[in-house]
Formats: sequence, C-alpha cells, structure tokens
Amino acid sequence: MLPVTAAEKIIFDLIPALGNDDRETVDLLSSSGRILAAPVIGSYDVPSWPNSAMDGYAVHYEDVEHCSPQHPVVLRVIEEIPAGKIPQCAIERGQAARIYTGAMLPEGANAIVIQETTKLETRSNPTPDTYSETSSTSNLEIDPETNLAFNPELQPNSIPIPSTSNYIWVLEAPNAREFVRHRGAFYQAGSDLLTPGIRIGAPEIAVLAAVQCTQIPVYRPLKVAILSTGDELVSPEQPLAPGQIVDSNQYALAALVKQAGAVPILMGIVPDQPDLLRDAIATAVFEADIVLSTGGVSVGDYDYVDRLLAELGAVIHVKSIGIKPGKPMTVATFAGEPKPVLYFGIPGNPVSALVSFWRFVEPVIKKMSGLAENWQPQWVTAHTRNHLKADGKRESYLWGRVQLQEGSYKFSLSGGSHSSGNLINLSQTNALAVVPVGTTAIPAGEAVRVLLIPQ
Ligand code: AMP
Ligand code: MG
Repeated sequence: MLPVTAAEKIIFDLIPALGNDDRETVDLLSSSGRILAAPVIGSYDVPSWPNSAMDGYAVHYEDVEHCSPQHPVVLRVIEEIPAGKIPQCAIERGQAARIYTGAMLPEGANAIVIQETTKLETRSNPTPDTYSETSSTSNLEIDPETNLAFNPELQPNSIPIPSTSNYIWVLEAPNAREFVRHRGAFYQAGSDLLTPGIRIGAPEIAVLAAVQCTQIPVYRPLKVAILSTGDELVSPEQPLAPGQIVDSNQYALAALVKQAGAVPILMGIVPDQPDLLRDAIATAVFEADIVLSTGGVSVGDYDYVDRLLAELGAVIHVKSIGIKPGKPMTVATFAGEPKPVLYFGIPGNPVSALVSFWRFVEPVIKKMSGLAENWQPQWVTAHTRNHLKADGKRESYLWGRVQLQEGSYKFSLSGGSHSSGNLINLSQTNALAVVPVGTTAIPAGEAVRVLLIPQ
C-alpha cells in the first residue's frame, strides 16, 4: 500500500510528453476550452492606430495644458471624426476635432479633451475670424462683444470659412496623454501574445480575434475509454432485477472526463468473465490514450483486472494506495505508438471511483492534454464546521462543500453515510476534506486541508 504522495509521484511521472502529432488547427470559436499548442504572435499592433478612449475633442495638448474655468481656451472645431472614419485634416495649434470613442486620432492632435469639460459655441460666418485659435492662456483676451476668449497674436485659420463654425471652450486641462490610446500601446506586432499550454477561454478568444488570428493551434483532445466491470451491473435504462446494481460509474466518469477537456469513449459494461474482459481491455487500449475501468481490482475471486493487464503485457506501477476511499487502485501502462497508453483500474464503489478520479486521474488528463500550469490538484486550508472522523490508517477523504466566507474557507461535511458505497449524498460536492494518516479526528472549528473539486 503506497502512501498517497508516493503514488501521486509515480502516477504523474508516467504522463507522456506531447508531440507534433498531438497538434491540430481549429477555427476561432472551436478553440474555446482547448489548450493552445504553439505560441501566438500577432501581426498587428494593438491599437493599430492612435485613437480616442473618450467622446470629446482631439487637441494639441500645448493649447489646453493651462486652461481652467477661469481661463478657458477657445478652439475652433474643424472636423468631426466618428469611429471608423479617417480624419481628413491635420489639427493645427488652436484647432480641435470633434472625436468619438475609438475614432482615429487626427494628425497633429496629442490629447483628448472630454466633452464634459467643454462648452460648444456655434457662430455664424462669414464674420471676420475674430475668434482666432488660442494657443496659450497667457495670450488670451476676452472679446468684449462676444465674450469669447481669443489670442490676438494668432492669424486666422486658412481653411475656408463655412456659414457657421463650431468653437469649443475648454474649461479644464486634461492630463497629458490621457484618453489617447497610442498605436501599439497594448501590444506590439511580432512579440509573444499567448503562450502554449493555456486553456483558451473567452478572454483568449477576444485577444485572438483582436489580432485576427482565426486558425488556432491546439492540442488534440485526449480520448479516454471508460468501461465498467461486474456481473451485477445493468445500465440505467435496463430493468433492475434482484441482486443487480445500476452502473453509475460509467456516466459519472464520462461527465468528469468531458469536464476535464477530454473525449470519453463509453465501452459499456463488461461481465466478470476473463475472456470478455481481456478483449474489452485490449479494445479500449487500442482506441484510447487513457483507459479507465471500474471494479474488479480488489482481492475477490472475480477481480480479474490486474491479472489480465499483466497477460496483455502491461507494466503495473501501482496496485494499492493508502487512501480511503479508493485503496485498491491499479495504475499500468501499455507500450503504444507513439506513446504509452495509461490504464487506471479504479475500484468499483461509486464514491471510490469519483475520489480516485479527482485525486489522481483528473490531473493526469489535464497535464497529458497539454495544460502547462494548474493541472495539479488544487488545495486550500478551510475551517471545518463539522467534527471529522477517520481511522487514522489511511489518508481519508470526506466529501462536502467549501464556501468562501469573509475571506476564509469553511468546509461542511455532507450529511448521511460516508460509506464508499453511498453515492446519494455526493450531490453538490465541491471539496474533499483530508484527514491525514495518524489522525483520527479533526474537531469542528479546526483547520483542515481541502481538495477543491473543479466545478
Ligand atoms: P468491485 O470493485 O468490483 O469489488 O465493486 C465494489 C462495489 O462497487 C460493488 O458493490 C459493486 O457492485 C459496486 N460497483 C462496481 N462497479 C460499479 C459501477 N460501475 N457502478 C456502480 N457501482 C459499481
Ligand atoms: Mg466487481
């Protein structure tokens, strides 16, 4: 009986490395949930051109840096630039362009004045261009007739004068560079954008879309064959005759395999008959990267799995682990091309099957699928709300729920029997509290190590 950590090390060391054959290319949406298999390098700067982060006016910062409600600056609005439009004019000193969020910054402008700090004034033309653009508050004068600020030193603008002109009064100086998104400020073309080994979710899809990367290199999903062994088993659709037990493991494991990002292959129920079981194991090993069987790994007369694995040429690495539930657990490898097939002979009791999966199989699936980080079991320390009991001989896993409350985790034990055959109180389990070897009780209120179960 191997201690849990020793078994874990042996098992994790069996995980084969991924090769070129394990890569494929999928389109952007299909990459959701998949693991990136190569670095993504964008060919566009983000943003691709300077643009405005706000609705307001594009200006020369030097024109407005000193203004205030008492010393406003008046600028002539020479163009309107909605998002998506290419600016037609360069902004000269004393001028501004009406600009909207995401719109391209016109040449010459280097700051955005938000519209909330301005007042718009529409004036009829052609009056002499009295309100020459102002360039600094020190030169400002107020026209007694119009009450507008202007800079008498500047020449009227040379652009044709339309029947009306818009002017803005800038009442507050923006911070330098504020609200200007400079070209390449967020990302520069050619540098690493996404690194391999990450799971692609909505944020990564947004990033990939933003740089127009639509063919995504990902690792192929692993195939995990699942078979249930036992003469007593019937499928959930079959009538239940006396003495029979419904095969719940196959479905629970299929759901877990899917959730871990692999493809389950359901191989069905195999009776405790060596010939049938041998064929079923051989087929599963041929079909899949990982095989999970439940039942038949204990010491009973009908527990054939270990013997058949040896007959079929597997190397058995683990036979029994000091864990409760889940002690009789066989881990073996079959030489395969291009890499070995991992075999997990999991005990048949429904809770043992799930605990074994969460503790040992799930990390293997994640790492073997190409996940570079966070494939290991995730642990937290929680305070238990219930008194936890164990036999002290094996590392005991008690199922329940953790909740984050006022910044710390609290563990609540599931009510009812904690027998490995009782699956009824497993519903809503999101954590397993661990009572270590040598400890027989953890009183309520004490700290306990908890394995988080991915939801
Ligand atoms: P075994 O590991 O084959 O000795 O089985 C241990 C216990 O788990 C027995 O009570 C079995 O009936 C039960 N069991 C085995 N396989 C399954 C299964 N696929 N679904 C539900 N219970 C099972
Ligand atoms: Mg059995």
